Amino acid sequence: MNPWYAKAVVLLASVVMVAIRAPHGQRSRKVPVAKSAKGALETTLLTIAWAAFFLPLVWIVSPLFSFADYPLHPVPLVAGIALLALGLFLFHRSHADLGTNWSLSLEVREGHTLVRHGLYGLVRHPMYLALLVYSLGQALALPNLVAGPSYGVAMAILVALRLGPEERMMREAFGPEWEDYAARTKRFVPGVW
Ligand code: SAH
Repeated sequence: MNPWYAKAVVLLASVVMVAIRAPHGQRSRKVPVAKSAKGALETTLLTIAWAAFFLPLVWIVSPLFSFADYPLHPVPLVAGIALLALGLFLFHRSHADLGTNWSLSLEVREGHTLVRHGLYGLVRHPMYLALLVYSLGQALALPNLVAGPSYGVAMAILVALRLGPEERMMREAFGPEWEDYAARTKRFVPGVW
């Protein structure tokens, strides 16, 4: 039997994540796309990401993955909650910083500006960092070997395969402004990496 509090934590975190993103999704749909770099790879990655986001919810409501359950200890639970909270905070801030420049996929919007303030002044990919921190938290707080790491695996694949095309797209769109920005910032950890 899965502990109810792990289910409550995972469900709450998922709801908060959707609530943070929803208004940005609605707003960005209204801004026309000027240039899209979305290809078959992007569509595949987004489909995998969605599936991996729902696996934990399947674990909450059904016994489908119960063969992979393990006992939950307080230390990983508390560490997981802390990482989920940090991930959600970074997720919220990075959406706020990007504003209408945010897209679910690789797209340059009409009137797109290069954001260099807020979290984007510290690192180039705070939203991906947020998703990786969040998914590590979920892997710790969700005591199941399938549903726990699923989102983290999907995010790691998505980020690894998207970074190159995304940075190429931004370089083409913003030229020297991007070069200058990229020279001053690291991808994920300020001053390190
Ligand atoms: N990689 C970033 C953004 C993810 S959202 C992060 O992890 O925080 C993806 C979209 O954001 C891309 O399609 C691109 O159009 C846009 N984007 C990425 N970096 C940006 C920046 N510094 N300024 C403006 N838009 C950016």
